[in-house]
Amino acid sequence: MKIIGILGIQGDIEEHEDAVKKINCIPKRIRTVDDLEGIDALIIPGGESTTIGKLMVSYGFIDKIRNLKIPILGTCAGMVLLSKGTGKEQPLLEMLNVTIKRNAYGSQKDSFEKEIDLGGKKINAVFIRAPQVGEILSKDVEIISKDDENIVGIKEGNIMAISFHPELSDDGVIAYEYFLKNFVEKR
Ligand code: GLN
Repeated sequence: MKIIGILGIQGDIEEHEDAVKKINCIPKRIRTVDDLEGIDALIIPGGESTTIGKLMVSYGFIDKIRNLKIPILGTCAGMVLLSKGTGKEQPLLEMLNVTIKRNAYGSQKDSFEKEIDLGGKKINAVFIRAPQVGEILSKDVEIISKDDENIVGIKEGNIMAISFHPELSDDGVIAYEYFLKNFVEKR
């Protein structure tokens, strides 16, 4: 069974752990860089990307994660953290060749649920102060999900990033299955 690490700094860590069990993988909570040892993939949960980024710097996660070479799934703030830039000073992993518009839906739509398409399947996506992809900086970036014209899911190499919270919707397992099938099992 594959071991999927869940960065345990901030966010819905337990909900991600439950989802990982649903796809028959073993969740491992990552609190220190030493916990990264032995995992087959990593999930970076949502939360507040500036806070998570600063803590990642102080715990020494930035370079360690950059050098992991395993599949990574970033959700919401996790997507922000994987990007190259947000137009704001904040620590980022810079592993995805995109810029991000943080809180792209503005205060009017702070939080909402909407059915969207992810890799050819319908999923009820929960958006919470969600980001969108701004500029795509490399042809290696592939769009896997859109909300109307807005890009809310991408992949590049062995990294997948989505704007929404799959751990919070009943059918969110679809996103984890997609990650497992297209990234983790492809290693
Ligand atoms: N708005 C948050 C940020 O930019 C992300 C929100 C979330 O992860 N739900 O960091």
